[in-house]
Parts: sequence; structure tokens; C-alpha cells
Amino acid sequence: MLVWEKAPAKINLSLDVLYKRPDGYHEVEMVMTMVDLADRLEMHELTRDTIILSSQAGYIPLDEKNLAFQAAKLIKEHYGVEKGVYIHLDKKIPVAAGLAGGSSDAAATLRGLNRLWKLGASQEELMKLGARLGSDIPFCIAGGTAVARGRGEQLTRISAPPQCWVVLAKPPINVSTSDVYGRLRAAEIPKHPDTDAVLEAIRNGDFQSLCGSLGNVLEDVTLSLYPEVERLKDVMLKLGAEGVLMSGSGPTVFGLVAKQKKAERIYNGLRGFCKEVYAVRMLV
Ligand code: ATP
Repeated sequence: MLVWEKAPAKINLSLDVLYKRPDGYHEVEMVMTMVDLADRLEMHELTRDTIILSSQAGYIPLDEKNLAFQAAKLIKEHYGVEKGVYIHLDKKIPVAAGLAGGSSDAAATLRGLNRLWKLGASQEELMKLGARLGSDIPFCIAGGTAVARGRGEQLTRISAPPQCWVVLAKPPINVSTSDVYGRLRAAEIPKHPDTDAVLEAIRNGDFQSLCGSLGNVLEDVTLSLYPEVERLKDVMLKLGAEGVLMSGSGPTVFGLVAKQKKAERIYNGLRGFCKEVYAVRMLV
């Protein structure tokens, strides 16, 4: 038996931190959606009680440090499955990029193994299980577009943003999400993103207002550490992207573009600055 799953990248159309909680986590408010830049996971049933992970990417861990491995172990233990699985991960999403690649792989693993081992778990059950591994995983299981609150695990599904092209560029630096959150002074944020404006633009299908209301409170932290991220934002704007934002804790910057021709022009222009550039559709 074999199943496969697509694991798309996530972008934040807005990311706000409301305050730091007594338990040390940040209370967030984020609007998230998915783009058509995806890893692909193939899962083969094994009669032997073991988990084996392989990947064409030489730069990610293939043991218990990998979130797909952790997800396989978790669902196997939770449902008392005695069979094993061989997972091949075809990695396309840049790593440590602010695109939740690892979380999406974990989500795809939970969805895939639920089918492979015929466990009959509902999406809700998978989301609960996934939340144990990471706050972004429930969203990656559900997909679509959502507002996330709490640590990111409390989701309200909303309608899809207006369809458009998304040009993504990842400068050659690795950003640690926990380092960026660690440096954020939640009580001293000068200007919070206007989440309500993002939600209204989506509700109205108003592409220009959406582009004008994008915001990410982590940008100031990452941009002060890595000025090249700011330069990349400027280049993307100069090339004509209608709205530009850093995704998650970065360093990936994305630009929203209405027309394919313009997306192609921006893509070609950026390739001179950056090796990792993608032009994809928003997933709706
Ligand atoms: P987030 O936006 O959720 O912080 P990210 O896109 O910044 O995620 P990931 O690509 O998910 O970051 O990976 C961050 C780290 O996790 C990397 O250093 C990598 O070694 C490790 N990792 C574990 N599992 C995976 C996986 N399946 N794919 C990529 N990286 C993984």
C-alpha cells in the first residue's frame, strides 16, 4: 500500500503579537493562507514495526529531529499501530524560511498515515494530535485560509483571499524562529498590523486593500538583524509587486501580484539578487 500527500507552504498575510503570556508563549493573531509551493510525501506501508524517512534534500535531519518523523511516531503510538512506514520526502519548500515547511510535512504525514493505516481519525482529531508537535500544524492540517489566535493553534476559517500570484524570495540566511520571538519586546511594539483591515479586504475580495494592509510585527526584529531582507523587500517593490511582506519570522519575503506577466517579470528580476526565487499561485 502507498499513499502520497502534498505539503504546501504557508504565508502570513498578517502576523501580530498581542502580548507575552505568563506561560512564556506569545499570544498571536495571524492571518494565514497557503501557496502552491509544496513538498511531496510518499508513504509506503511496512510490515516491520519501524519508521524510515528518506529525502533527496541533503540538508535536513532524517531522524527523530524531523517533524515528519515525529508525526509518524506520534500517530503510530496514539493509535497503537504495529505496522511500520517508509516515508520519502521530496523537499521543495526552503528550510528555516518562515514558510512552515516542517509543520506542513508533519501535517501531511498525519493525513497520509490516517489513510494508509485506515485509522478513521477526523480532521479535528488529527489537528489536536498535531498541536502537540507544533502550533502551526493544526492550520497545516486544515489548509485554506484562517485567522489563528492563542499560540497559533486556535483557528477560525475564513474565505479565500482574492486569487493572485505570489513571488517568494529567500535570501541565503537561516533565521531561528525562537531567536526572533526571543528578541521581540511585545510590550513595546510601536505599530501593530491592522488585522481587521486584512480581514475586511479578504471579505470584500479587494486585492489592492489587501496589499495595502499586509503587516508582520516580526519584520522589525528580523530586518534589524539582517538588513538584506529589507533590501529584498525594496527590490521587490521597485520591480512592481503590489504588496510585499516578510513571512513568519523570515527571512523569506513574498510579493503579491495580480497579473502573471508581471509576476514573471519580478521573478526574472529577482533571480539576479537571490538564488531561491519562486512564482506560484495562491492556493484557494
Ligand atoms: P516556521 O515558519 O514554522 O518556523 P520554518 O519554515 O521557519 O518554520 P522549517 O523549514 O519548518 O522552518 O524548519 C526549521 C528547522 O526544523 C530546520 O532547522 C530543520 O532542520 C528542522 N526540520 C525538522 N523537520 C523538518 C522538515 N520536515 N523539513 C524541514 N526542516 C525540518
